[in-house]
Amino acid sequence: MRIGVPKEIKNHEYRVGLTPQSVRELIQAGHEVWVETHAGHAIGFCDESYLNSGASIACDATEVFAKAELVVKVKEPQSQEVALLKPHHTLFTYLHLAPALDLTRGLMASGANCIAYETVTDNAGRLPLLAPMSEIAGRIAVQAGAHCLEMEAGGRGVLLSGAPGVPAANVVIIGAGVVGVNALMMAIGMGANVTIMDTSMPRLRELDWQYGNRIQTVLSTATAIDHYLPEADLVIGAVLVPGAAAPKLVRRSHLETMKRGSVIVDVAIDQGGCVESARPTTHSDPTYVEEGVVHYCVANMPGAVARTSTLALNNATLPFVLALANKGTKQALLDDANLMKGLNVFAGKLTSPEVASSLKMEL
Ligand code: NAD
Repeated sequence: MRIGVPKEIKNHEYRVGLTPQSVRELIQAGHEVWVETHAGHAIGFCDESYLNSGASIACDATEVFAKAELVVKVKEPQSQEVALLKPHHTLFTYLHLAPALDLTRGLMASGANCIAYETVTDNAGRLPLLAPMSEIAGRIAVQAGAHCLEMEAGGRGVLLSGAPGVPAANVVIIGAGVVGVNALMMAIGMGANVTIMDTSMPRLRELDWQYGNRIQTVLSTATAIDHYLPEADLVIGAVLVPGAAAPKLVRRSHLETMKRGSVIVDVAIDQGGCVESARPTTHSDPTYVEEGVVHYCVANMPGAVARTSTLALNNATLPFVLALANKGTKQALLDDANLMKGLNVFAGKLTSPEVASSLKMEL
């Protein structure tokens, strides 16, 4: 099959659909790969590394789309890219169509088959192509929070680990899923006192077995949040209620109970945020202060480490890209119910009940 990788054109997006290593696997399986010039340049994957892996370099996106049957990207296609999609294309990328009526209509009008990373499942019903980005966001949350605690960033001038003779900082993590547990690992590694909350007792029991008294596990209730916030130096919001906006667990009234210069990192901001005072920020202007509390609410945290994110994403996507290339789109979908869950648009028709219900469209 002919596979195409355009350069991402969304603002500040430096990730790329396929790494040179993934390209090599596809070439070894007998496929042809076209990569747009400079597609991976910003993160150290130069054209030469793709050529060495056996890819051909295309001069622009128009050439990539003209050559390719399967287009592998990272972000949802921008309008210029939608205009290049044709009925013979399969598009494999993050789509997030639920709030995107115009994009959904554009993809349907193109006639292309569109498979969304974020709705591909595994046998346990989890989302394996979202998990790597949650793992990374959880790890960044502690790194970003530690930075925000420094004076220059408006923080209270506290080092997470403390110092000999000086106590460590208190980190409170709300939500013990993929983001929360990755934040937990980093916070423990940096020597903080960590309290982690979740509504799931089996989850807390698992963490208690794993970490023992190195951490505190707490059932997430309004009372627990009232109790732990005033002592926190860093609070990380990491909750998810599938299919719903994040619940507002930290209220604006909590801020005045918190220490001046303490920090909130609301990772759940991409689902509306679990902190009432949180609003989305960007990598170029990531923080603001309200009631003396520094807020970090970047909606695409993995973008900060685009090279690591690209490698992690490829580890998860490559088996599906190989299946699509080896078997063809239809057969790959028929053979794998988990990949089929990723199908959002097929030959001009919307196939995702969740997207249809969110956009009030017919299937
Ligand atoms: P997950 O499903 O693995 O974990 C969510 C956890 O929240 C679950 O353990 C659940 O039991 C818990 N939870 C639900 N309600 C709760 C409550 N009231 N109190 C405490 N815990 C509660 O999800 P995840 O992959 O860890 O993602 C967490 C959030 O981070 C999501 O909103 C996701 O969209 C977001 N995210 C953001 C970025 C970013 O760049 N900002 C990147 C990746 C993920």
